[in-house]
Amino acid sequence: MSRRIIPLADVSALPDISGVAASPSGLLTDTLARPLRDLRISVTDRCNFRCVYCMPREVFDKDYQFLPHAALLSFEEIERLARVFVAHGVEKIRLTGGEPLLRKNIEFLIERLALLRTPEGRPLDLTLTTNGSLLARKARSLKDAGLSRVTVSLDALDDALFRRMNDADFAVADVLDGIETAQAAGLDPIKVNMVVKRGTNDQEIVPMARHFKGSGAVLRFIEYMDVGASNGWNMSEVLPSAQVIERIGAHFPLEPLEAHTAAETAQRWAYRDGGGEIGVISSVTRAFCDSCTRARLSTEGKLYLCLFAVAGHDLRGLIRSGASDEDVATAIARIWEARGDRYSQLRGSASAPSREDARRVEMSYIGG
Ligand code: SAM
Ligand code: SF4
Ligand code: SF4
Repeated sequence: MSRRIIPLADVSALPDISGVAASPSGLLTDTLARPLRDLRISVTDRCNFRCVYCMPREVFDKDYQFLPHAALLSFEEIERLARVFVAHGVEKIRLTGGEPLLRKNIEFLIERLALLRTPEGRPLDLTLTTNGSLLARKARSLKDAGLSRVTVSLDALDDALFRRMNDADFAVADVLDGIETAQAAGLDPIKVNMVVKRGTNDQEIVPMARHFKGSGAVLRFIEYMDVGASNGWNMSEVLPSAQVIERIGAHFPLEPLEAHTAAETAQRWAYRDGGGEIGVISSVTRAFCDSCTRARLSTEGKLYLCLFAVAGHDLRGLIRSGASDEDVATAIARIWEARGDRYSQLRGSASAPSREDARRVEMSYIGG
């Protein structure tokens, strides 16, 4: 069966900038008292993988309409918006996609973002999430451009299984090569993200733990999520993180670690023998909406307040209509102050957006 989805959803009017201007104070909070600290920017909706849980090939096929180049935010526009977000309190920016390393000259954008400073004068924590396929080629230039760290996605060590999961015939060896090159270039500590889909790759949990134990890379296991409207998500395919910890602990004893910050998404565990740490991101079984300080900027400049939002706020329209930086700051303040999203806490309840809602945005469009 061929499913067709329309990934674009927006709030049709331009964001409200009427009334008194809201100057950035770095102290913005939403209706649940959550500050604005993290910004994820999707720099392309395209990808060279077709991961079955993210961009299934039957939907993202040769007829799929990706965004035309003119619809993408330019590097100048991204930098301009990022500067205003930073004035409002953002301290960490993650570039994502789609596959961010497919965006031509991404290093030029990184160079610009690396120059931004928080109101206290600190540089940003500037990171990028990648499928790793182009990392061996790009690690050095990314580091030289000013990238702080990198997160690499890898769902299996078994090559045949990995090729089936990325559905584009990419080899595990290329991703491992990318991770090593990135470590050598100083883009560390590297995080490696594995999405666990029960019945598909859960047998890879222990081999992955064994491989990365003691390597300096921090392996993190992510519960398979019901993002978007195209992956046919089913709760029976979610393996709760508690079971991931149990399985690894049976081979390598673990002990819990304190969170670095209140907004940290992963629960951290250390190998008792000093072999480093792992993390679990329990987006489904243990929602962390209470501490969610993340805003997301889509490839075409729409601001989303939650990974599961059905509508975005058109910041690109606002800046292309000639708005000043002050107007943009006012719009962002109004939008964030009205935010009450907490989808994962409401999942399954009557107030959560429906799974059937075909307007739910895709991960490849909004960024992970
Ligand atoms: N292409 C890059 C990559 O794969 O790392 C960046 C974008 S990707 C959308 C960001 C992250 O989202 C990846 O780690 C991916 O595994 C994760 N992801 C995508 N779909 C997911 C889902 N349904 N549940 C959990 N994680 C998912
Ligand atoms: Fe591409 Fe990343 Fe989605 Fe896989 S998870 S299809 S690599 S965007
Ligand atoms: Fe944040 Fe939405 Fe995820 Fe909750 S469901 S943690 S509000 S992105």
